[in-house]
Amino acid sequence: MTVLVVATTNQGKLREIRELLAGLPVDVRTLDHFSPVVPPEENGATFAENARQKALYYAGATGQLTVAEDSGLEVDAMGGAPGVQSARFGGEHSTYTEKFALIYEALDRAGVATSTARFVCALAVADGDRVLFESRGTVEGEIVREPRGDGGFGYDPIFFYPPFGCTLAEVGEAKSTISHRGTAFRALRTWLGTR
Ligand code: IMP
Repeated sequence: MTVLVVATTNQGKLREIRELLAGLPVDVRTLDHFSPVVPPEENGATFAENARQKALYYAGATGQLTVAEDSGLEVDAMGGAPGVQSARFGGEHSTYTEKFALIYEALDRAGVATSTARFVCALAVADGDRVLFESRGTVEGEIVREPRGDGGFGYDPIFFYPPFGCTLAEVGEAKSTISHRGTAFRALRTWLGTR
C-alpha cells in the first residue's frame, strides 16, 4: 500500500487531515514515525511556495511520498495580513488571545469594526525531488469582535461563516465540508484515486 506522510506537527491541522484522508487505500503516516528532523524555514512569499518547500523537504527527509500544506488567514482590511505569517503573527510564542487583540487593533486603526476575510490552504505532494500534485482551497467569511466557540483551532473563534451563521469554532464536524483545508484535501483524494 502506498505510504503517504502528512508533514505537519500542528495537532489541529493533523486532526482534520486524518479525517479528510480516512478510508483511502493509503498508509497515512505522521512525522512521529520518522527520526526527528529540524523543521524547514518557512520563508516563501506565498502559501503555495511554502507548501512546496515543506513537501520537498520532508519527502527528502523521510524517503516517502509526502503531503504538506501551508495555510493562514487573510484579513482584507489588513491588506491580506497575517497571511503566510499567521502562525507567527505577534511573535512565535504569542497566544491566540493576543493574536486576536492585534487583529482588533489593526481594524480599529483602519477605522472599521469588522472586515471580510478568508482562510487559504495550499497543498503540495512531493516524491524525492519532484512536486507531483498541488491544490488550493479557500473559505470566505468575516471577523467577529467577540471570539466564539471552543472547537477547531487557531483563528477559528473569530472567523464568522455567514452561510452557517456561526464561527468555525462553533460548527463542529461540518467545518471540513466547507473549509479551505477540506477543499484542498478533497482534490488530493481525487488525485490519489487516479494514480
Ligand atoms: P502554517 O501553515 O504551519 O504556517 O500555519 C498556519 C496557521 O494559520 C495556523 O497556525 C493557524 O494560526 C492559521 N490557520 C490555518 N488554518 C486554520 C484553520 O483552519 N483555522 C484556524 N486557523 C488556521
